[in-house]
Amino acid sequence: MKKIKLLVSLVAVALLLVISGPMFNDEDSAQALEKAEILADTLNVRSGPGIDHSLIDQVNASESYYVVDEHTNDDNGEWVKISLSESTEKEGWVSANFVNKIEDDEETEVDKLDKDEEKAQENKTKEIEQRNLAKEVQETPLEGAKIVLDPGHGGHDPGAVGPTGLTEKEVVVDVGHRTKEELEELGADVHLTREGDEFISLFNRANMANQMGADLFISIHANGALNRKAQGTETYYSSLRNPNDYQLAQSLQDGMVNTLNRQDKGIFDRNFSVLRNAHMPAALVELAYLSNYEEEELMRTDQFRQNAAEGISDGIVDYVENFL
Ligand SMILES: [Zn+2]
Repeated sequence: MKKIKLLVSLVAVALLLVISGPMFNDEDSAQALEKAEILADTLNVRSGPGIDHSLIDQVNASESYYVVDEHTNDDNGEWVKISLSESTEKEGWVSANFVNKIEDDEETEVDKLDKDEEKAQENKTKEIEQRNLAKEVQETPLEGAKIVLDPGHGGHDPGAVGPTGLTEKEVVVDVGHRTKEELEELGADVHLTREGDEFISLFNRANMANQMGADLFISIHANGALNRKAQGTETYYSSLRNPNDYQLAQSLQDGMVNTLNRQDKGIFDRNFSVLRNAHMPAALVELAYLSNYEEEELMRTDQFRQNAAEGISDGIVDYVENFL
C-alpha cells in the first residue's frame, strides 16, 4: 500500500511540474520579447559576455535582435545575448553599452519608417483607385440625359447674314452637329431638330423635344444687329417657365465665354416662343454676331465652331451636375 501511495505522489508531482512548466518559463519568454537595437555602426558579437570571448559575428547600426539573456560582471560591464537568426538559433553576446533595449511591441525607427512607407503606399493606391473611379464617373457625366439641340432657321429662312454673306443657318447647323458629337461622347442621348438645310416651324421644334420627353432643349443661334460694331456672346432664357432655366442659361453662357473668348454680354430674360413651348428646361444661345466683320470671319473657321460646341457641352455638363 505504501508503495502505491508513493507512486501516486510521484505522478502527482510530475503532473504538477508539467502543468506549471510554462509558468516557470514565463520570465524567460517575457525577456525574449525584449529587443536590442544596435547603436554602434558595427558591433562585435562574441561567444560569451566579455571582450575576452571569441568574435563570432558583427551586427550593424539600427538593426534589432531579440534579447535572449543578459549578464553583468564587474570586469566587463553589462552584456546582452541576442538571437542572430531565429531559423538557425544562432546566438551571441554584445556589449550593452552599444544597444538600446526596447519592448518588442514598441516600434523601432526602422519598423516605423517601413510602416509609414507601407501606409503611404496604401494611401497612394487608394487615391489612384478613387481618381480612376471619379474619372469613370466623369467620362460619362451625361449618361441617361436626353438632350434636344435646335439649330435655328433653315430652308428659306437664312437667319442673320454676315457682311460677306455667311448665313446663320449654315453656321448653327454645323455647330449643332459638333455639339451633338461632344455630348454623345459624354454619354448623352442627343437629337437635332434639323440635320440639314430644312425649314421647321418654331412650334414644331419645341414640340419635337416635348414628344421625345427630352431633359433639355437648347436652341443654337448667331446674332445679327444693324450696328456692325455689336459683338459678343449672349444667352436667353424665359423666367416665365422652369425656374431652373436661369441656371441653364448661366451655365451655357459661362461655357461659351470660356471657350470662345468673345465679349461676355450676359444672359437675358425673353419670352421667346421656342422657349415658351418647350416643357423642359430650355435656353437659346447666340454664339456671336454675324453682322460683325470680325465675328463673321471667326464663325467661318472650324476652330470657332468646335470651340462653340465644346463651350455649349461644358455648360450642359455644369448644369446637369449642379442643377438638374
Ligand atoms: Zn437666329
